Amino acid sequence: MRGAIYARYSTAKQNNKSIEDQIQICSNYARSEGIEVVKVYSDKETSGYLAQREGLNELLKDAEAKVFDVLLVEHTSRLARDGYELRKLIHEFRFRYRIPIIFVSQNLRTDREGDIAVIKLFNIIDEQYIEGIKVATKRGLEGVFRRRKWTGGNPPFGYRVKDGQLEVVPEEAKIVREIFQQYAKGVGLKTICKQLNELGIRTRKGNPWSASSLSALMKNPIYKGEVVWGRRRYVKDGITGKVYVVKNEDYLKREEPSLRIVEPELWEECNRRLAEVPHGKPKHKKIHPLMGIVKCGVCGYNMSKEGNTLCCSSFRTRKSCSNNLTLNYDFLFRWLVGHLKKFIELNRSGLEQRVKRGLSGSVAVDYESKIESLKNKLRNLYNLYSESPDEILKEEINRVKQEIRALENAIKSSESSDIDLENILEEIETIFKKKPEETNYLLKLFFHKVEISPANGTAHVRVVFNRILPENFEIRSIAGAGFEPATSGL
Ligand SMILES: [Zn+2]
Repeated sequence: MRGAIYARYSTAKQNNKSIEDQIQICSNYARSEGIEVVKVYSDKETSGYLAQREGLNELLKDAEAKVFDVLLVEHTSRLARDGYELRKLIHEFRFRYRIPIIFVSQNLRTDREGDIAVIKLFNIIDEQYIEGIKVATKRGLEGVFRRRKWTGGNPPFGYRVKDGQLEVVPEEAKIVREIFQQYAKGVGLKTICKQLNELGIRTRKGNPWSASSLSALMKNPIYKGEVVWGRRRYVKDGITGKVYVVKNEDYLKREEPSLRIVEPELWEECNRRLAEVPHGKPKHKKIHPLMGIVKCGVCGYNMSKEGNTLCCSSFRTRKSCSNNLTLNYDFLFRWLVGHLKKFIELNRSGLEQRVKRGLSGSVAVDYESKIESLKNKLRNLYNLYSESPDEILKEEINRVKQEIRALENAIKSSESSDIDLENILEEIETIFKKKPEETNYLLKLFFHKVEISPANGTAHVRVVFNRILPENFEIRSIAGAGFEPATSGL
C-alpha cells in the first residue's frame, strides 16, 4: 500500500512538534503497518492564516491523481487549522478522493465509521489547550511553586492575596472551621448551606451556598495546610463550544502550615464522609443513550436505566419520590429520535439560521467569569515575573494567555458557530448504530432535558431543547396503561 505523509509546523503554537518529529512518528507507524511511504508533504507557517500552504496544495493535487492510497498525519491539528477546515478536508478525502486519512498519534482513521463521529463531533478540542496541559508538567512548574507565591486566580474562601502571597482571613476562617466541625458532627450538607445562606454568607462568586459548592470547599486540601498546583485545566470542545474541566494527575503539592485553617485529622474525617455519601454523578456507570437526559418530573432526579426500563432513580433506590412510572427504554429512545428528526425536517430553514447564529449564548456568561479569574492569575504571574524573570514563569504566562484566548474564542464561536446541520442530520440517520456514548453526546446537543411525570395513569412528557432548537414541546401521554409501547404509535 502506498502512503503519503503530511506534516505542518506553525510558529503560532507553543511546544510545536517539529516537522521532522511528525514525519518520524508517521514513518514509524507506516513501517509497523507495512505501508510504503511514497511522498512527504509539509508546510511551515510563519504567519498563520495568510500563509500559503504549498505542501497542502500539492497534496490535494496528488490525491486527485491517486499518487497514494492512504494519508498519514501525526494529529488532526497538523492537517487543519480549525474544526471547519478539518471537516472540509476529511470530507474531500472521503468522498472526492476516496483516500483514508490516519491520524497516527490519536489512533483515529477516517475509514472507520465510528471514528468519523469522534473526529467530527467529539474530538475537535482546541489544540492550544492540549498543548497548555502539556506545558503544565511537574518539571516546568516546580520553580514557581517553590517560591510560595500565589499563582492561582481568585483565592479560595477563607483567604486573600497580599504581596503575591496567600493569607488567612480570620473572619472567614471561623466560618470554614464551623463548616468542618458541623459536618464532622453529622450535620448534613444541605442543613449547613441553609444556615450559611440565612446568615447572608456568600461564596467567593457571590452566590448562595449549595451542597456542591460546600462539598467542593471541603475537598480543597488547602484548609488542612496543603497547597496544590495545576490540578485542573480547562478544555474546549470545538463543536459545542463547551468548556470542560480536566483533572491533571501530575499536580504538585506542598505543606503550608501558615495556611492551615482546620486540623488535618478533621479534614480527613470530613473527606472520608464526603466520599461515602453518594452525591453528584455516580462514577464508572455504563453510559446509555438517554443518560442524564431523562429526568423525573416530580423530584428532578435522573430516570435511571435498569434492563430495558427507565424509572425515577430516587423512587427506585430510596423510595423518596412518588413517581412510580416504569417506561420501556427502547420505546422512549426511538420515540425521541423520531420526534427529533421530524422536528428538524419541519423547522429546517429556521434551524439553519439558528445553527449559524450559534449553539448557545448562555455559556458565555460562565466563560466570562472564568476569564476574569484567569486574568487575575495572569496579573499575579506578571508581578512574579517582574520580581524574578525566568523561563518557567514565561511559559506559564503564555499558557494562561492561551487559556484566556481560547475561552474568548469559545465565546466568539458560540456566537458564530460553523457547525454543519447536514453533518448533524447525517449523524442522526445512523444514531441507532452508534456506540452508546456517541449517541448520548449527540442527543445532548439537542435535548436539554426530557421530563416524565405521571398524569392520570399515563405519562406526561415535557421535552426541553437546547437553544439550538426554537421551542419546547409537551406531550400529554406517550402510551397506554402499563406503558407498554402502543402499536399505533403516537
Ligand atoms: Zn422522582
